[in-house]
Amino acid sequence: MTAAVLRVRGLCVDYGPVRALTGVDVEVPDGAVTAVLGANGAGKSTLLRAVSGTLRFHGGAVTEGSVALGEDRLHGVAPARIVAAGVVQVPEGRQVFARMTVADNLRAGALGARGGRAAVRAALKRVHELFPVLAERAHQRAGLLSGGEQQMLAMGRALMAGPRLLLLDEPSLGLSPLMTTRIARTVREINAQGTSVLLVEQNAALALKLASTACVLENGRVALAGDADELAASDEVRRRYLGVADEDAATETGAAVAAGTARPALSRWSA
Ligand code: ATP
Repeated sequence: MTAAVLRVRGLCVDYGPVRALTGVDVEVPDGAVTAVLGANGAGKSTLLRAVSGTLRFHGGAVTEGSVALGEDRLHGVAPARIVAAGVVQVPEGRQVFARMTVADNLRAGALGARGGRAAVRAALKRVHELFPVLAERAHQRAGLLSGGEQQMLAMGRALMAGPRLLLLDEPSLGLSPLMTTRIARTVREINAQGTSVLLVEQNAALALKLASTACVLENGRVALAGDADELAASDEVRRRYLGVADEDAATETGAAVAAGTARPALSRWSA
């Protein structure tokens, strides 16, 4: 059995009187990509904020449960220490420092890095290999990059800290299909190089292709969880998140049952 790099147990989060997460259990197996799916407002960003320790900047707080990186407890720990422990978030909407150059944005990412100058040089080399455009545009102001290039910069900046676990919030948001494919390829490459990924995506088809495990959040609770390929094949996910019409799914399921090739049911977690 693979050990989990991240283990979230019974997590409850409130924004003042608003309960955003209730009893959420999520695990990222070491070396895996785990996807979190769900409709608008389901609690996906809140989950990432709870892991990165940034909830307090949004007026939120963990009220119950735990978050652990390996054996280390993360909940209640300051965001800078969470980065130093190896967990780095790429926030939704990219949020690069628009007036700073590309090179300075990357340098800023290295501020929380573990290791010394050699580690920073190695991280910069890795980022330039993954995103050659960031080397070509090193002295350009980040705000002048295209949306896709800004997404690359946001990911590159996160990688400068040498994370063990990368938290990606909607990396495909607002990007062209071509750029989305490029970003997806890079996520695969980053993961193949040994970085685990917790990926929040509205684009369920993309997320389930990239991930090995996934969960679906509904109204702040885990509604479904399992292997990504099993989720991708489940009627409920196909209908609700992959846009496959009922009739279509019913016909396919009927055929699978008749042929004896129907997949086992996923765990439907009671709310
Ligand atoms: P989206 O896909 O639209 O980004 P999401 O799944 O990431 O949605 P969250 O942004 O985590 O969902 O929101 C979960 C719940 O918490 C929602 O009901 C939302 O209104 C509420 N919420 C989120 N941020 C805040 C905040 N800063 N203050 C108060 N309530 C918030």
